[in-house]
Amino acid sequence: MYLLFYISRGELSELGFVGLKDFGIEFINLCLFVFICVHLWTINNNWTVKKFTHNKRYRTLFLNFLLILKYLKLKKMTKALLLFSEGLDSILAGKILKEQGIHITAVKYITPFFGWELKKNPEKYYKNIEELGFDDGEIIDISTEYLELLKKPRYGYGSHANPCIDCKILMINKTFQLVKEGRADFIATGEVLGQRPMSQNRNALILIKKNAEFEDLLLRPLSAKLLFPTKPEREGLVDREKLLNINGRSRHEQLSLSERFGIKDIPSPAGGCLLTDPVIGDRVLAILKNDLPLNTITAELLTLGRHYIADNTWIMLGRNYEENKKLFEIAASQYKIYCLSEPSPLGIVLSGDNNIDKLFELLVKYSKKARLAIENGKEVSLQIVKNADDI
Ligand code: SF4
Repeated sequence: MYLLFYISRGELSELGFVGLKDFGIEFINLCLFVFICVHLWTINNNWTVKKFTHNKRYRTLFLNFLLILKYLKLKKMTKALLLFSEGLDSILAGKILKEQGIHITAVKYITPFFGWELKKNPEKYYKNIEELGFDDGEIIDISTEYLELLKKPRYGYGSHANPCIDCKILMINKTFQLVKEGRADFIATGEVLGQRPMSQNRNALILIKKNAEFEDLLLRPLSAKLLFPTKPEREGLVDREKLLNINGRSRHEQLSLSERFGIKDIPSPAGGCLLTDPVIGDRVLAILKNDLPLNTITAELLTLGRHYIADNTWIMLGRNYEENKKLFEIAASQYKIYCLSEPSPLGIVLSGDNNIDKLFELLVKYSKKARLAIENGKEVSLQIVKNADDI
């Protein structure tokens, strides 16, 4: 009640508060205030609102209390969620904000096509975050939604099977959900205007922003000065003057920034997305074109081995011991894994159940010993692999 009274008198805005939302953020301080009021009330339970608000001594006390609140509010750390690809640009974006004292949580989205190795070994990621001086890190698996998106990306594919614009919109929207949950004040990305022909030209950046649910909270520190000021800049959470105006494909400025920040291991610009790989990208497009089953298991298998794709048939073979082991590890819980009675690769029919003959033919093709045995009149048969030890 007292609070509303002072808001209506405009005294909060004089003190720099913009509204009740800020008090929500300083909830603990507000509780303290309520505690003081209740305390005062208990001192003299004959008090009325009027008496309180017209009592100079307590009015001064209250205003001083608000000044303390304001100080605490200014001290509150601004938080950003950084879309972190582990590439140089996102490292620099985080470093630039960190320099302003902003709390950085580096969010890494993973699918079988990028970042997947972190699923088994997340410690590597958290160690990297710590070494870079960021405050926190998070790994989020978005495979299911991503594979759906990959089937029909609204803004099409890039050079291979990479649906970069849709991919970024998905990641940004996912991150906005975290902002909505109060995890941060805004989102930052390492995007650079004009750096990539498909996803980082001006129109693409605007498009990504427009499709993002809260476009005003998306900050690109490396090119911010070439773009409209975002809410965190306008509200002074981020000092726009300290942001950059990098434009184009040259890495010159990024490299000199790396020196400034003492970054010694500069990640390659490729970024490690397997969808941009010509071989894997073409495989993915062939699977989609033939409407073959794409799920987390088959997607992971697409990133290794040999693949035979024709009409509704999809067969995969390992190329060496390591791949055979991986194939078994990934798929044994859902599919039958085969080999020959003679030493051979492991094989699996991912689509087209009646294609066991074709699988046999392919296994023989890639097994020297099986071919020799057949030439010598020995019978070679197909066997199911039940144990990883049998590989
Ligand atoms: S390169 Fe891959 S991970 Fe990066 S935006 Fe494009 S599709 Fe997404």
